[in-house]
Amino acid sequence: MTEDLRDFIRHRIRDDLRTGASDGIVTRFPPEPNGYLHIGHAKSICLNFGVAGEFDGRTYLRYDDTNPLRESQEYVDGIQRDIAWLGFAWAGPTFASDYFERLYEFAEELIKRDRAFVCSLPAEDIRATRGTLTEPGTDSPYRDRTVDDNLDLFRRMRAGEFADGTHVLRAKIDMASANVNMRDPVLYRIRHASHHRTGDDWCIYPMYDFTHCICDALEGVSHSLCTLEFEDHRPLYDWVLDNIAINYHPPQIEFSRLNLEYTVMSKRLFSSLVDDGHVTGWDDPRMPTLAGMRRRGYPAGAIREFCRRIGVTKSDGAVEYALLEFCVRQELEATAPRAMAVLDPLRVVLTNYEGDSESLSAPWHPQQPDQGHREMTFSSTLYIERDDFRESPPRKYRRLTPGGMVRLRYGYIIVCEEVVKAADGEIEELRCRYVPESKSGSDTSGLKPKGVIHWVDANTAVPAEVRLFERLFNDPNPGAGNFVEALNPTSLLIADARVEPAIVASEATSMQFERTGYFVKDARDFTSDRPVFNRTVALRDSYKPG
Ligand code: ATP
Ligand code: MG
Repeated sequence: MTEDLRDFIRHRIRDDLRTGASDGIVTRFPPEPNGYLHIGHAKSICLNFGVAGEFDGRTYLRYDDTNPLRESQEYVDGIQRDIAWLGFAWAGPTFASDYFERLYEFAEELIKRDRAFVCSLPAEDIRATRGTLTEPGTDSPYRDRTVDDNLDLFRRMRAGEFADGTHVLRAKIDMASANVNMRDPVLYRIRHASHHRTGDDWCIYPMYDFTHCICDALEGVSHSLCTLEFEDHRPLYDWVLDNIAINYHPPQIEFSRLNLEYTVMSKRLFSSLVDDGHVTGWDDPRMPTLAGMRRRGYPAGAIREFCRRIGVTKSDGAVEYALLEFCVRQELEATAPRAMAVLDPLRVVLTNYEGDSESLSAPWHPQQPDQGHREMTFSSTLYIERDDFRESPPRKYRRLTPGGMVRLRYGYIIVCEEVVKAADGEIEELRCRYVPESKSGSDTSGLKPKGVIHWVDANTAVPAEVRLFERLFNDPNPGAGNFVEALNPTSLLIADARVEPAIVASEATSMQFERTGYFVKDARDFTSDRPVFNRTVALRDSYKPG
């Protein structure tokens, strides 16, 4: 066991183990399979699996599958893929639906103890009689039904005798409670819908507040960790367990959700982005889903490191996106091979280059000799980045200018002698002279150009589609209401690039394209005939984590 007391939850767990309040650590991660996981879920996953790992415990992956209308096997599978990718192994998986029969029995028990009743008010009347934060609610006219009547009605609800919405089972607590959640909350509703696991076995489904605490107790969860919005539900969590015959009562402990700047954090909202075609799918590289981030090229280790850095507290607030990108760069900097790609090609013709071409060698990673070398060709026709040439350069411009010189990385020094333009004024080609004695590694020219730029050989470079992403939302805090208006209309730019052939042939999926960023081969669309890359993150980084 490695004790790591970096937050209040780990302190609490250590104390509970010392005092004997817990005799072992069991946590759970309880997603509803109604969408793919997002970076907010990663915080909960790293916490639940993290503490279990540190304190020799285990973590159940438990699907909270109590709403058949929104859930599916696709999401069940996607969630497992994402947790495994993040690097965690679960106990189970278990499903709330595994416990439907037990849950039903506990509901009957509440009825028999006169702690629950069948209410036949329409949903809107239940809402209207709930009261407000300042005013108490009013009792349902069905609150005084006899135990026998309630049992009979509840059994007939289960048997399928009633239509959706005609009856619900409610806890009998206190319509005047200061806590609105305690005002006779609904425990079961009728829903004639096929469930992705139980099919048509059930037409009544338990509510989250009734289900969650019982599943925690049945699984022997030692610490039920959830986000702060459930703090006001804790009295109900405790009430349910206190009013049924169950011999174990886990403590619920709340921590703050992760909010990230420039994005929403909700499966429901992401689902509408997918359905309405604002993105290409749940794994669109612009999506803050784990599937999207994986396809974008974010390493799982960078996401774990991000979760470690944000920590676990009770204070809300939005985390800067730059911290996540910092973690991504930090990991890729150490691991990703380097190569050259030109995103916006400008042709350069070397007027004094004789012969066909020559071979040059360059390290895959200058700090990591183990990664070895790749071969590239050099010839009289090259491409450089259009932005690496300026006819009227700003002050301190260090790249190529008319009459100026620049070094081609791993190659030679070139001097620009002529700018060839099309009729519309667009620069078509640069005619340059190269300095034969300036070859990298054996330079005897004595010249000292100020800049070094990347390039590719036009004769061997491979055309590639490169997808460049901007933020999905323009608004630092896109509200749930107007989040479609907050979408950035230019969040995807496609570049018609030329890349070194070695990049395409390499087994590596993530690469640094020198000077332009970290890129990944697109997991869906990349083929060696038609290479497609996603930019994971640009190189520039002025961000310093606090
Ligand atoms: P969504 O609204 O995106 O569906 P949810 O909270 O309803 O989110 P669940 O599938 O019920 O999603 O969540 C599973 C677990 O992940 C819960 O314990 C929940 O508290 C946690 N979780 C969800 N979003 C966040 C977040 N932004 N930060 C931390 N934990 C989160
Ligand atoms: Mg939910």
